[in-house]
Amino acid sequence: MIDLHMHSNSSDGSMTPTELVLEAKEIGLSTIALTDHDTIDGIPELIEAGSKHNITTVPGVEISIDTQLPNNGHLHMLGLFVDPHSADLKKTLDFLREQRNLRAQKIIDKLNELNIVVTMGELLAEAGEGSIGRPHVARILVGKGVVTSMQEAFDLYLAKGKPAYMDKVKLGEADAIAMIKNAGGLAILAHPHLMKYETFNEAMEKILSLKPLGLDGFEVYYSGMPEGYCRNLLKLAQEQDFLISGGSDYHGSNKEDVRMGYGKGDLHISDGVYHQLRKNWKYKMQALSRGN
Ligand code: AMP
Ligand code: ZN
Ligand code: FE
Ligand code: FE
Repeated sequence: MIDLHMHSNSSDGSMTPTELVLEAKEIGLSTIALTDHDTIDGIPELIEAGSKHNITTVPGVEISIDTQLPNNGHLHMLGLFVDPHSADLKKTLDFLREQRNLRAQKIIDKLNELNIVVTMGELLAEAGEGSIGRPHVARILVGKGVVTSMQEAFDLYLAKGKPAYMDKVKLGEADAIAMIKNAGGLAILAHPHLMKYETFNEAMEKILSLKPLGLDGFEVYYSGMPEGYCRNLLKLAQEQDFLISGGSDYHGSNKEDVRMGYGKGDLHISDGVYHQLRKNWKYKMQALSRGN
């Protein structure tokens, strides 16, 4: 059993990469990927802990994409098997994180206008070295008693359309895919159902439009993905030769209803999914080094 989508405290998860590896070991996973938002800072620790505790680790990253979608949907791109030493990757991720800091200040300004006192110092302390996200703000609001849960913080203040919402600076789909592929990774569309198209056909058209840009595959197994959607995606992958992946999107205590490996209940992703991804990744790498 594997889990190829999770966050550490290098972004908005609550656990260190080492703790993630230990949790994976505890529940009997063979393989995990760390896919923090806009950062690969947790990867060296992940790899070290993985080799120490005999868990296979995949270096990854999750990028939010700037694109027009219906119903407040969003498009996230995972890079799996990215080279954590890629200078280009690091540079672009550094830029995205700077933009996150600027946005965090704007969120704080909006909260202050609502007479909710939050400072950048508090937020930096909450995020530690990590890339700042709205869950950090939510945690502070819970800590101050402004709301009773992180979900309430989103519902009242931080979700899109709410009074302290601020958009992020995001990469376009072509730039994000190119960044991932230049860093030697596979570009995998995360949680396709969360693009929130009304019909599967519309989602499929979007996915097919990303193929010429270099999209390698998409997540088929994900916490809370409707079963019919999952079946449709499997069929699309088979017909159009896309790779399939999956994970829980574990955030530790920052997303209380999602468990590593099991998601919101019965998620159970077999090792074969990892082996197939790895085989194709190696094949693509070899093809690249042969220059074709
Ligand atoms: P950010 O990258 O700063 O925009 O934060 C995104 C993270 O916030 C996601 O990974 C979720 O964990 C969380 N999040 C976003 N929207 C909501 C929502 N409506 N309710 C609860 N959590 C949310
Ligand atoms: Zn997150
Ligand atoms: Fe995501
Ligand atoms: Fe995620």
